[in-house]
Amino acid sequence: MVKDKEKPAGAGTKIGRVMRFVAHYWMVAPNLFFSLLAVRIFSTLIDVSVPVAAGLLVDAVASGKTDDPAPAIRALVIFLGLGVLFHILRQSVTFIANRLSARAITAIGRDAFAKVQRFSSDWHANSFAGATVRKITRGMTSFDTFTDTLAFGLVPAFIVVTGVTIMFAWRWPLLGLVTGLSVLTFIVVVVTLSVVWIRPANVAAREWDSKMAGVLADSITGNAAVKSFAAEEREDRHFADIAQGWQWRAVRSWDRSAVSGLVQAVLLLVLQLGMLGTGLWLWTQGRATPGDIASLIATQFLITGYLRDIAQHVRSVQRTVNDMDDVLEFRNAQLQVADRPDAKPLQVPNGVIDFDHVTFRYKSAKAPLYENFSLQIPAGQKIGLVGTSGAGKSTFVKLVQRLYDLDGGRILIDAQDIGLVTQTSLRNAVGLVPQEPVLFHRSIAQNIAYGRPDASEEDIMRAAKLAHVDEFVRGLPKGYQTLVGERGVKLSGGERQRVAIARAILAATPILILDEATSSLDSVSETYIREAMDKLSEGRTTIVIAHRLSTVQRLDRILVFERGKIVEDGTHRSLMARENGVYRRLVETQSGAFLADAAE
Ligand code: ADP
Repeated sequence: MVKDKEKPAGAGTKIGRVMRFVAHYWMVAPNLFFSLLAVRIFSTLIDVSVPVAAGLLVDAVASGKTDDPAPAIRALVIFLGLGVLFHILRQSVTFIANRLSARAITAIGRDAFAKVQRFSSDWHANSFAGATVRKITRGMTSFDTFTDTLAFGLVPAFIVVTGVTIMFAWRWPLLGLVTGLSVLTFIVVVVTLSVVWIRPANVAAREWDSKMAGVLADSITGNAAVKSFAAEEREDRHFADIAQGWQWRAVRSWDRSAVSGLVQAVLLLVLQLGMLGTGLWLWTQGRATPGDIASLIATQFLITGYLRDIAQHVRSVQRTVNDMDDVLEFRNAQLQVADRPDAKPLQVPNGVIDFDHVTFRYKSAKAPLYENFSLQIPAGQKIGLVGTSGAGKSTFVKLVQRLYDLDGGRILIDAQDIGLVTQTSLRNAVGLVPQEPVLFHRSIAQNIAYGRPDASEEDIMRAAKLAHVDEFVRGLPKGYQTLVGERGVKLSGGERQRVAIARAILAATPILILDEATSSLDSVSETYIREAMDKLSEGRTTIVIAHRLSTVQRLDRILVFERGKIVEDGTHRSLMARENGVYRRLVETQSGAFLADAAE
């Protein structure tokens, strides 16, 4: 037997957790929820009484006279009336459930999205975006399936079964006992089979189904590599292996369902036999009328109808509980970087940055990267961060943006501790032009205005001109309204950077972080970007993460990082003057072309 991948341990607490989650979202519309419950219970009770009405009709016909059909007609009207009422109520349940589900699903999606957006950069760096999206969407649809399964499957089945058993037990205790026992046996056997025998097989088959899809996607997207190595046959074999693994698991899972179907059919037959046999015996004893027998036949059809899908309902509840548990994790997770309850907005009149004995360690690292690190950056200074990869330059700017909380010390901006101000006000004050700017699939104008959505068209144009975006946008068919990523209009690395610079110009933050692109840009782009960056940094405190040393010479100050420490601090000229200086060595290892450049 295949082991179920989901941990059985804590399953009880999981159901409790999920039930609290579900109840919370049912309560987004309490009126709808309680109407749903009331109408559903009422409609099911009506359904249970339809067979009784059928019995009354048969009795009226059996004992009535043909010249006085009034009692039979009355019974017929009651019978039909109940049927009509049942359908009206059932339909109302659907309409109410539709509204309740839509409201709750929207709320679940909104809440999960809001939470996930606010998770720390670390969290996002360690999570696959696709998997997160899938968890949220699956959690939303699972809520719907779960509510439907309860409203249309399990709750009515429970009411019908208990209602009928009580009704019988009240008139004929023996029939009540037989019905109760056979229904109980049916439920226990079928649910046990479903949960411990069928589901693990289903889970295994589904897992291999995803594996097959994964292999297909991987090989097809990597087709260029497959072709260049003439590896088609190798890929065929790889896929065939996985498909083989899926094949027997699928057969096993389908077979188990079929066997369970058979067991179910036999048990239903036993149930029918028990009920009708007892009914007939009661009739021979003169304790049941023909009408009672007719109502019994109708009742057993009713019960078997509700019981038939119970195994599927239980499996569906199990699956949806697991899927919702994933979304719930988001809901319960603590934000790693959270605003203090008394956080105030940051005010930045000058843009002085002060690292005051900062200690910081990445959670997954053994030792702190920064220890007791202090540094002052005066207002409006332009500094370049230099150092080998892994020296701590990116971390330095991440700390300024408070993407992580410190383990010791403080970072102050204009004498305010950034750990005590609101994150929104901090990020509104610190602009960033990242190495690989993220552009949304929206128009170029909207992308530029991302940092200031209320910007006027003139402002957008002005920023675009300053950042040399205008040059390439003019050539596009729809100009600034062109969607980024739309057929054929994919921007080059340099163009994306220019859009990001225009964005930063428009956002006009007092502090600016520029992370140079590492990938080489064409020389036209490079000149444009250098010019644009100069304009952008005018009058602002600017931190440049320099990947090419040619950029930093023009800056006011250069900080050379080594393993979380500043080993040199000064202007290009002063650092170049140091014999055996780290910066000088870095410069000297650059290409001859650059050396000529630097010697000017
Ligand atoms: P640089 O920008 O100078 O290349 P970083 O600031 O990116 O350097 O990295 C400094 C050190 O911190 C490196 O040793 C790197 O491996 C480590 N580091 C960076 N990001 C993380 C992270 N999210 N989790 C753990 N360690 C990290």
